Amino acid sequence: MPDNRIAVITGAYRGIGREVARRLAKQGFTSIIGARDPKKGDQASTELRQEGLNVSALQLDVSSDTSVQQFAKEVLQKYGRVDALVNNAAIWYDYGNSIISTDLAKAHEAFEINFFGAWRMAQAFVPTMRDRRFGRVVNVSSGAGSLADMGGNTPVYSATKAALNAFTRALAAQVEGSGILVNSVCPGWVRTEMGGPNAPRSVEQGAASVVWAVLLPASGPTGGFFRDGEPIAW
Ligand code: NDP
Repeated sequence: MPDNRIAVITGAYRGIGREVARRLAKQGFTSIIGARDPKKGDQASTELRQEGLNVSALQLDVSSDTSVQQFAKEVLQKYGRVDALVNNAAIWYDYGNSIISTDLAKAHEAFEINFFGAWRMAQAFVPTMRDRRFGRVVNVSSGAGSLADMGGNTPVYSATKAALNAFTRALAAQVEGSGILVNSVCPGWVRTEMGGPNAPRSVEQGAASVVWAVLLPASGPTGGFFRDGEPIAW
């Protein structure tokens, strides 16, 4: 990996994303936090800078073409490249939701964020990775998106993550041999706003699963689905 590496992490003013930004900065990255609310992003980056870390924040709504384009323009103007893209932003763990009577407008919104958000971000940054023949794309997915043992508990969320996994496979195949590794990662069940207080894992443990895929060497896997650095079923 080049020196002075640049990482973009979406939805990262709190939760797993924030801890990923922190850990990558500790590894020598400049971490750029994307946050829907710029005040929350600024507050998080200020706190992390107070730990001596190289972190900045920019407004980013991954469901908006305009916002993603503006974010990418600012990042590329300022830093010239992005070495790692962590697609972390997601909404709506719709536990107990009915697939028959669910609000489809809400389901569309979830797809816009959880699935198309990652796609938009990849369209914005993968071309510069390809030019430089280096990049790591980590799609933060979930075991709930695994088709192998999918049930009906979280129908919309699971569908968005299964789609995200398909995107991981297709993107990995299309950029194979260009120095870019693309993987899906499940952080496990983690104590965050989404995971709730009863989850067994800390944000540190969840983030470690994600950071592993950012730090992969050139010989590392691509087009895979991992938790804690181990392959899991699609
Ligand atoms: P949180 O709910 O704590 O954080 C989600 C983040 O995404 C928030 O910062 C939120 O910001 C942001 N976000 C939502 N919508 C957008 C948007 N349109 N544009 C930009 N940012 C947005 O969740 P976690 O930290 O728990 O989850 C992180 C990732 O890990 C997600 O992809 C999740 O699906 C995955 N995951 C989590 C598990 C868990 O147990 N926690 C288990 C398996 C996977 P805002 O406040 O603006 O909404």
